[in-house]
Amino acid sequence: MSEEYFYPNRWGRVVLTSAEEILGEKGVAALLNLARLPHLIGNYPPDNMEKGFPFEYVSQIQRAFWEMYGSRGAQVFATRAGEQSFADGLSQFGKVAQAAQMAMRIGSLQQRIKVGLEFFAKFFNAVSDQKVRVEEDETHWKWIIERCPMCWGRTANEPVCHLAVGVLKAATGWASEGERFRIKPVECIAMGAKEGVILIDKP
Ligand SMILES: [Zn+2]
Repeated sequence: MSEEYFYPNRWGRVVLTSAEEILGEKGVAALLNLARLPHLIGNYPPDNMEKGFPFEYVSQIQRAFWEMYGSRGAQVFATRAGEQSFADGLSQFGKVAQAAQMAMRIGSLQQRIKVGLEFFAKFFNAVSDQKVRVEEDETHWKWIIERCPMCWGRTANEPVCHLAVGVLKAATGWASEGERFRIKPVECIAMGAKEGVILIDKP
């Protein structure tokens, strides 16, 4: 393993604790064995923002879930883990999030979502080695993942980065005070694309 890029420990921990909520302790142990990460069983990363959780781990856990539960089960799990990560990150970065919410208060719903997405892109880029940017056209906002931990080293024939879909569901819900948007991954580096692309329908 190269272990060149990392998520903060806390994010790795949240992925595992949300897996435990769904699978129970034994289920997570099985998952971690399948992911070839047995050293993490009963030994989750510490609850801090140090960059210590390698991209390889994120990807292997997603893949193990895929192998255990198939595409649909893995999607449900990853989306839920992503939503939980967002909620968790928000409480950790209360002041920054408050500042973003102040900025979002002015303007239309569309402007608020744009400001919110850009805020989270900056946040991701600052605290992890994941690299993302936001673009838009008439009908969609585009969450573009330039360096992606979720499919790191994987190949697949469909998008596999549903953890990001969960984060975006929670983030857009938060930025719009409860609106729901259709969010769909359309490109994934695991499929051979240069960048991962997730589309968020504009209302
Ligand atoms: Zn990906």
